[in-house]
Amino acid sequence: FEARFNIPHLTDIFHDALPIPSTFCLKMRTPTEDFADGYPSDEKWHGYINNNDRVLLKVIRYSSPTSAGAECIDPDCTWVEQWVHRAGPRERIYFKPEEVKAAIVTCGGLCPGLNDVIRQIVITLEIYGVKKIVGIPFGYRGFSEEGLSEMPLSRKVVQNVHLSGGSLLGVSRGGPNVSDIVDSMEARGINMLFVLGGNGTHAGANAIHNECRKRQLRVAVVGVPKTIDNDILLMDKTFGFDTAVEEAQRAINSAYIEAHSAYRGIGIVKLMGRSSGFIAMHASLASGQIDICLIPEVHFNLHGPHGVLSHLKYLLETKGSAVVCVAEGAGQDFLQKTNAKDASGNIVFGDIGVHLQHETKKYFKEIGIPADVKYIDPTYMIRAVRANASDGILCTVLGQNAVHGAFAGYSGITVGICNTHYVYLPIPEVISYPRVVDPNSRMWHRCLTSTRQPDFI
Ligand code: ATP
Ligand code: MG
Repeated sequence: FEARFNIPHLTDIFHDALPIPSTFCLKMRTPTEDFADGYPSDEKWHGYINNNDRVLLKVIRYSSPTSAGAECIDPDCTWVEQWVHRAGPRERIYFKPEEVKAAIVTCGGLCPGLNDVIRQIVITLEIYGVKKIVGIPFGYRGFSEEGLSEMPLSRKVVQNVHLSGGSLLGVSRGGPNVSDIVDSMEARGINMLFVLGGNGTHAGANAIHNECRKRQLRVAVVGVPKTIDNDILLMDKTFGFDTAVEEAQRAINSAYIEAHSAYRGIGIVKLMGRSSGFIAMHASLASGQIDICLIPEVHFNLHGPHGVLSHLKYLLETKGSAVVCVAEGAGQDFLQKTNAKDASGNIVFGDIGVHLQHETKKYFKEIGIPADVKYIDPTYMIRAVRANASDGILCTVLGQNAVHGAFAGYSGITVGICNTHYVYLPIPEVISYPRVVDPNSRMWHRCLTSTRQPDFI
């Protein structure tokens, strides 16, 4: 089976860099072709993954382009089977465990499950026999900032960290440039780096991987995608997403009770989702209490006869109350652009939730109809909770596979779940743009069926 993507292996650093394929179905160079046998893995892992094992990317075959949902599939790839590399332990490993110094770093914002992944990486490294495991404090900043020393990690240290949310290591945005990070890694003797973060962090991880390759360092850089928004390409879901959807139910239910108990009550809940409305869509579907779901992918008007506000008026007249769920990246065109950026260079968004609350109050005041508007923003309450059971399992498997990938000698890769199987993917392929809700998808249509909302245009 040929693979959709070539994943970089450390043996490549002594050859001309393999081209990152722009077309699919390029044959991957397996590690064993280059580093002969590697070392035998002492741990048996209850079975090994063969380097040529593959996972099918898309499992549905539409019999006709008119089948509902078929328009979401890339037209060039509709009928082509695409395979990606299966994750897991290899029988021959690239590193001798006693020569490994592994480091873990967590960057960006908080996401449920970070501690679960850290814990599992440490435990799996110890099973391989690695003695030197450290945490880099406060994201990439921990590589350069005075007074931030690396944190020794062991099973004992991480045993119970998954019982609370947040990150044991701390997180941050911004920080040193890639060359300084690699200088620091060289000075510390780090030859395995596990990077937990979103698109920015992964761009950094890929740059670190390339810099190591340029310097011909045998360093494995492996990412674990952390995005509560679930906006990473090709993956079924990312850790923290399930927990976020579950926790969002509490905010939605409170908004519903407030709206339902008030005379002509309107509840507005803002949820995470900078470019993708997955959390808002799934939380709306799960709760069954949402009348209007607004996401960045679907344009809407606030004013006018078909706008959100006149639908709210209709809902108050017919149902007596209404609940709105809005993703943070939705309706940004209504807001004043500030051009403000955070320490990592991400544009700071205007607050659509506050704007919606303001406009709703103003509208009902102007038309002289009473409306009791309540606004809830549960963002930081959701980000800080501990992972639920399903995310706990996902984090455990991703953490184990991150370590297996590094030991297999892959670098510049990230781990994910595709069609319920765990896979390795080259970082650039999954961060080239954010995965978004397809307005033609069945899931969005189901959400519309559930809310009964019209098109606001
Ligand atoms: P979140 O989803 O929480 O925003 P993120 O990983 O996208 O997570 P960022 O703050 O954007 O969070 O980036 C995290 C780290 O990655 C920062 O330390 C930032 O300096 C670094 N970084 C971001 N983009 C790049 C890039 N293109 N090249 C190198 N490093 C980057
Ligand atoms: Mg980001």
